[in-house]
Amino acid sequence: MHDENHCPKCGSSDIVPRTVNDRLRAADPRGQTFEVELQLPVWSCRACKLCWQGQEALAAKEAAYQNALAKRSPARTAA
Ligand SMILES: [Zn+2]
Repeated sequence: MHDENHCPKCGSSDIVPRTVNDRLRAADPRGQTFEVELQLPVWSCRACKLCWQGQEALAAKEAAYQNALAKRSPARTAA
């Protein structure tokens, strides 16, 4: 497993997982842009206050995007 248990800035291991509200701008296959709101898991360093996104965040973004896309593809697309 990838070692993300250290702060990339100061190297401290005093880090805590946090969840923040984030918003993601994306485009669907038809080229229409839309925003996806999601709960983004991030890491926060208690030593230097840095907040960064790990693999969890990428996965959460991808999942939120796919989820939003699925909701945006109703049957009326061909109207
Ligand atoms: Zn730090």
